[in-house]
Amino acid sequence: MSHHRCTRRRFLGTTAAALAPAASAPAAAPDRPVAELRAKALVAVTLDLEMSRNFPTWETTHWDYEKGNLNDETKRYTVEACRRIRGRGGVAHCFAVGRVFEQEDVGWLRGIIEAGHAVGNHTYDHVNVLATRAEDIQFRFRRCPWLIEGQTPAQVIRHNIQLCTAALRNRVNLAPAGFRTPGGFRDGLREHPHVQQLLQDLGFTWVSSLYPAHALGPRATEDVLRSIVHAQRQAQPFAYPRGLIEIPMSPISDIGAFRGGRWRLDDFLRAIRMALEWCLDNRAVFDFLCHPSCLYVVDPQFRAVELICDMVRRAGNRALIVDLNAIARRVAR
Ligand SMILES: [Zn+2]
Repeated sequence: MSHHRCTRRRFLGTTAAALAPAASAPAAAPDRPVAELRAKALVAVTLDLEMSRNFPTWETTHWDYEKGNLNDETKRYTVEACRRIRGRGGVAHCFAVGRVFEQEDVGWLRGIIEAGHAVGNHTYDHVNVLATRAEDIQFRFRRCPWLIEGQTPAQVIRHNIQLCTAALRNRVNLAPAGFRTPGGFRDGLREHPHVQQLLQDLGFTWVSSLYPAHALGPRATEDVLRSIVHAQRQAQPFAYPRGLIEIPMSPISDIGAFRGGRWRLDDFLRAIRMALEWCLDNRAVFDFLCHPSCLYVVDPQFRAVELICDMVRRAGNRALIVDLNAIARRVAR
């Protein structure tokens, strides 16, 4: 990971100031003291760079087989979301599936990295790291089982994570900024010490795998909202017994709202406002999980990102927009 930090520092020192749109934007968080990171609410905007089933139209399932083949709208939304966050003095944290790097042009992502945003590993093909049967690993391998013939599921998963790291190094010269599991698990990796060990063996010090349970229905009713706010307690970072740090995703995600609940945007914004308010009041962590491939369809005006940035600004010196590396530093001993 040290290579990554080094690269980031160099970028921040030489080019980020020139790229940052707002002169008044304070420095991003990488070098902030741990005491400050522990004293404030830490807010992360994380963008999973993958195509999403059911978007842009409900009938679309093609992306299950081609998660990394981002369309132009998704790339444009990602670039603009990052630009807005940087303009408010924060950084975004992207998680890329490795197949993104098979595309001819990754200049857009290079620009994001040069502006100081983080990019982590989301596996090469969006594989389920808890799969124990070949057919449960990923749709692509169900259609094309010859791609993984002769390998155990554990071997496939390990190799798929390594491939994403290799793609990042080859195309954008970057070590991955952490690991996010495809799919979130309500207990994270608590019952899966072998997966914790695998990630540590591959050099990761933190993972984002836990998405706590909460109520969900077709509307953001009072009960559903209360449940989402309550779930923020279960979405606070911690260390597993062997030392791997968990940085949970904070409900509700865009996919949870717009696929799971088929919500309207106003309901989503209301849930974010209430959940983030709790986190700001409690100097807690809020790790917003979104997918540009979903948001460009349902939130073309960037209202979710703007809402989060506005709330953090209003919180003054009580809150920071940071990447997940900074949140991991708050937990690390
Ligand atoms: Zn994903």
